[in-house]
Amino acid sequence: MPVYPDRIVVVGAGPVGLCLSLALAQADLKVCLIEALGDDNFLEQVPRAGTNHPATLEMYERIGLYGKLEPRGIVAPVFHYWDRHKGKLIAAFDHAHLKNDTRFPYVLQCERIKIVEEALKMARAHPNIDLRLQTEFVSFEQDAGGVTAHAINPGGEKEAIKGRYLVSGEGARSIVRKTLDIAFEGFTYDDRTLNIEVAYDFRKHGYAHRNYISDPREWSNLFHWKGPPDRWRVHFPTDPNADEDALTRPEALQSRLQGFLPTGKPFDIVGCNLYVVHQRVAQKFRVGRAILAGDSAHVNSPIGAMGMNSGVHDAFNLADKLIAISRGEADDMVLDRYERQRRHVAIAHTQAQTIRNKRLLAERDPAVRQKNHDELRRTAEDPKLARNFLLRTALFESLREADAIA
Ligand SMILES: Cc1cc2nc3c(=O)[nH]c(=O)nc-3n(C[C@H](O)[C@H](O)[C@H](O)COP(=O)(O)OP(=O)(O)OC[C@H]3O[C@@H](n4cnc5c(N)ncnc54)[C@H](O)[C@@H]3O)c2cc1C
Repeated sequence: MPVYPDRIVVVGAGPVGLCLSLALAQADLKVCLIEALGDDNFLEQVPRAGTNHPATLEMYERIGLYGKLEPRGIVAPVFHYWDRHKGKLIAAFDHAHLKNDTRFPYVLQCERIKIVEEALKMARAHPNIDLRLQTEFVSFEQDAGGVTAHAINPGGEKEAIKGRYLVSGEGARSIVRKTLDIAFEGFTYDDRTLNIEVAYDFRKHGYAHRNYISDPREWSNLFHWKGPPDRWRVHFPTDPNADEDALTRPEALQSRLQGFLPTGKPFDIVGCNLYVVHQRVAQKFRVGRAILAGDSAHVNSPIGAMGMNSGVHDAFNLADKLIAISRGEADDMVLDRYERQRRHVAIAHTQAQTIRNKRLLAERDPAVRQKNHDELRRTAEDPKLARNFLLRTALFESLREADAIA
């Protein structure tokens, strides 16, 4: 039988792989972290997640990451629901209702790229992390004693990297998940989302740093990011049959933005991209010594900002279990509990909530819209209901439910 070094092999230096690696390394476990991107292109990734919920901020603080992110982000205690059709604010939710529940009664608007940049610096400096940039993971095998990951290193050579467990933080296209033939159950929306990044201060029109905007024809989201220059991200649904070039032409982008907020002057557009939205959960999160976490285990619509956040929660849940195993405090059956807990959260919270969020914003029936909006307004105005609502959206409820799973 091959000899395996006592270390965890983590694939992917996204937010999930990095948080997991740091939590393990800080508990004295050895980690080999493999990332396909190199120093020359790591910071060139397309804009993605950026809203960090209070429960996630507590986890960042545990590994010393929070203090590095706060100066690069925007502290946003309040978020809004708007009715675009009527041009009215429906409800404002203030995380101050959570002041007795968390040290962080706000979300931090801090983009994924800044998170991975700061976390990568910490990983590079940690003696327990063997960081392999520009190294592409291609396949793996496992037996009763450990795992062997096969990768192509920066010199173009094949390399076998051994360890006790393999964690896939590779994102949605996970080779580990595909190799294990694990079904990725769910569906894909047929409309693509158009993301436009604009340098324009929407606050002068009453918007908060985070806004969910319902409209029977063209729902949207509007989020503020710290610069320089400060940017706002506006999301719109698109016609599934529309041509990508036609959707992203400068005139088409300007016309969408003017439809949203007619200023009469061209907006300063600093970027745009189109993306497909999937709602899927892996049928299994663990097979033997190979484990899925983050987007490799579940993907969802970004409405509600739950993908990266719930992935980071997977990372910390898993880290605690791998630490307990390495200290002899648990056997590896505890990894089945990781699957039970985090798969439950993915299905009953992340999927359910993000599907509901999209339905809420896109609802066409005027009577249902009115009922939804009245309910949101009532919830925001009642402190007890607002706190319960925020405990759910800030992901505390999902963590409490997971804790109760044996
Ligand atoms: C437009 C958009 C907006 C979003 N907004 C939000 C939001 O506001 N809040 C939120 O919580 N979520 C949001 N999400 C989702 C969020 O981006 C993801 O859930 C999150 O990035 C997943 O993190 P991850 O670490 O699992 O995977 P990723 O971030 O996908 O990272 C995977 C890493 O693995 C590396 N990798 C992949 N394959 C290999 C390989 N074969 N070998 C080596 N390395 C490999 C990649 O280079 C990458 O660095 C959004 C997504 C999109 C598309």
